[in-house]
Amino acid sequence: MNKPTNERHATGSTAAASAHGINTVFDYEKVSTVSPQEFALLLSTFDPDRFTKSDQFDIQRVELLLDIKPGVLAGENMYLESYKCQSCGKQLAFSDFVYTAIKDAGHHKSFVVHTLIGAKMIRNKHRPVRCSNCDTVSDKPLNYWINNYQCCNSGNI
Ligand SMILES: [Zn+2]
Repeated sequence: MNKPTNERHATGSTAAASAHGINTVFDYEKVSTVSPQEFALLLSTFDPDRFTKSDQFDIQRVELLLDIKPGVLAGENMYLESYKCQSCGKQLAFSDFVYTAIKDAGHHKSFVVHTLIGAKMIRNKHRPVRCSNCDTVSDKPLNYWINNYQCCNSGNI
């Protein structure tokens, strides 16, 4: 949100950044899903006490970041593993995860929106999250959860 940057890091991928810096490998059509059983097992290990749940203001930030109409995500349950920014002290939340997805992973906003509200059940790996307040990246990968999209291996959350 503060200093502009021309850098764009396509983390974890050898691919295919377009001229606009968008990582074209991430196509929702190609995202693999897990079985309902696997997803339920993952969810059964979820411990909300270890997570920060987005309040309405954080959800509004997510909507702003993704250029979607206010209220579309209202009432969604969004969680990010509890973590305080080591630099500015901000309690990171799901909007920081979305900020990271756009800024560091080079994801197109449309891809992120579809991932978050699509019908696919997706399990992804945990990842370092960038503080949207001071741009510092967390010193460890963080878990996250929203409806149909979550991290990690069962037992890890
Ligand atoms: Zn910070």
